[in-house]
Amino acid sequence: MIDNHVHVGWYSDGYHSPIQIWKEMRDAGIEQIAVSSTSTCAELYKLVVQEMRCLIRLGGENVHPILWVTPRMLKTWGIRYMLHSKIHWQGLKMHWAAHREWYYNKKLTNVAIDIAQKMNIPVLLHTGESKECQPFNYETICKEHSNTSFIFAHGRPISQTIEVMKHCNNVYVDTAFMPVGNVIKLVHEGFLERILFGTDIPINTLFYNKTSSEYAKDCLKQLSTVLNKSQFEIITNKQIYKSHTIYSQKI
Ligand SMILES: [Zn+2]
Repeated sequence: MIDNHVHVGWYSDGYHSPIQIWKEMRDAGIEQIAVSSTSTCAELYKLVVQEMRCLIRLGGENVHPILWVTPRMLKTWGIRYMLHSKIHWQGLKMHWAAHREWYYNKKLTNVAIDIAQKMNIPVLLHTGESKECQPFNYETICKEHSNTSFIFAHGRPISQTIEVMKHCNNVYVDTAFMPVGNVIKLVHEGFLERILFGTDIPINTLFYNKTSSEYAKDCLKQLSTVLNKSQFEIITNKQIYKSHTIYSQKI
């Protein structure tokens, strides 16, 4: 079982340490995680690398590190530091609502996507209701980079997500904070193989009075009640972030 949307690091409610995150996942029975650091938003690049190293020490190949990029990282020493950190990044994440420059600065956005393309890793894009991060914004980029896989985190709004997935075979979606009704819609559209299980742990602790492991167990339980066994297994074992052959040190 893999959780494809996990975070570590500083967030508005405090610090979520690698050990704490790893323990929560194990307690929930989740073996593998694809993880990015929210410390990135404070531009704490050295801390991000330390957090990833710590998680890899704990989980080895069961930890799939995602490089969350920011406009500032790309304009400073940050990106070289991240790419030369010897972390074998398996995905690249962008959050167009948190960093609105991606929405306006097409040139810089293309620099980021080119890095992912050269490393042969997928791009994780936050989606949501605000105008900067709606799936329709991403359609042209997904079409222009048809050899790169894109994952729409949360798949919001679902109607736009479905529309873009119909037009672009290289688009996937994760279930972080997704109502199960939307998971069903995606399955009915024939996208079973393009759905990745995700929780957004530990962001859940801001909204629900539960530990992250309890929250993950709840997510899995809800999915298991609306899906049949084989559908459940496909979604909860779907992997897209994998170790790649082109090491970032060469870029
Ligand atoms: Zn997230």
